[in-house]
Amino acid sequence: MKEALWWKPLEHGKVKCGLCPNACIILPGKRGICQVRENRGGRLYAVSYGQVASICLDPIEKKPLYHFHPGALVLSLGTYGCNFQCAFCQNWRISQMRPSCTELTPKQVVDICTSQKERYPGTIGMAYTYNEPTVWYEFVKECAGLAKAQGLVNVLVTNGYIAQQALDELMPFIDAMNIDVKAWDEAFYRRIARGSLDPVRRTVEQAAGAGTWIEITYLVVPGENDTEQDIQELATWLSRINSGIPLHLSRYFPAYKYDKPPTSLESLEKLREAARDKLDYVYIGNAWKKGYADTLCPQCGEPLLERGALELEKANLRQGACPGCLRPADIIGTVWM
Ligand code: SF4
Repeated sequence: MKEALWWKPLEHGKVKCGLCPNACIILPGKRGICQVRENRGGRLYAVSYGQVASICLDPIEKKPLYHFHPGALVLSLGTYGCNFQCAFCQNWRISQMRPSCTELTPKQVVDICTSQKERYPGTIGMAYTYNEPTVWYEFVKECAGLAKAQGLVNVLVTNGYIAQQALDELMPFIDAMNIDVKAWDEAFYRRIARGSLDPVRRTVEQAAGAGTWIEITYLVVPGENDTEQDIQELATWLSRINSGIPLHLSRYFPAYKYDKPPTSLESLEKLREAARDKLDYVYIGNAWKKGYADTLCPQCGEPLLERGALELEKANLRQGACPGCLRPADIIGTVWM
């Protein structure tokens, strides 16, 4: 546990947390919506600081990031808690429950990463993932600072629901982000996630403006956010930022409070075509079928990167470009094969 950043005291021992747009006002002895920031004696504490629920060396494709150091490995870690409460959360056992944790310091975590790098040279850095890293802000920021000093990269897998100033302070350490856009509909965000779309849009724009590599994940939930219009509007907005931002349309499976059947592959393929009108790279995730995760040249259709269920299997690039038409392939960093 550690005293939190981004809070201020209020009258009668209450505190206001300013880390995310929920802006919780927390009574003494109580926690905010995320369940990991607690008012103790009129001060706010990050109770999940250093509590690691899961730590694992993952292919970067699993985040998913398909255009950032393809084929690399990242030490992925997370704790518990989330500032959203999505009824269909695919990770609800750590976002909404409290799993058993191992206590680690930022230095210990970064040391694990550097030792993995000695064993597996394709290990490029750290990914803050599994639960929402925003609610672990203090620990993430310290780890990211140490990792950066060791020449490692930092990847954030986030719902993008973070206060602008807090993100500003974190961004210098972050090299790449996968940002979850849950819907293109404010009412959906309020009803299903108990959050709001606008701050998420701002995070995407802020990160892209700062030069951080971003990819977007959109979990397609049948009957909730799966119209062609939803996807076309999302893709149009993204294309105005940069048509090279990869979009991952992810297959929903029943989880937590949702028991609707999984998203059909037909629906995912139809939405992929709708998004391809505007975006250069659209993938289908959480469902494996040959081709769903492959990178094709947007200009001539040449397969550039072929992936299996979670890993890079084949690269076909000439100096970072398509070998057929020589169009740049929008790949950041080294391809690890
Ligand atoms: S980080 Fe947690 S406590 Fe702070 S405003 Fe967001 S949900 Fe509330």
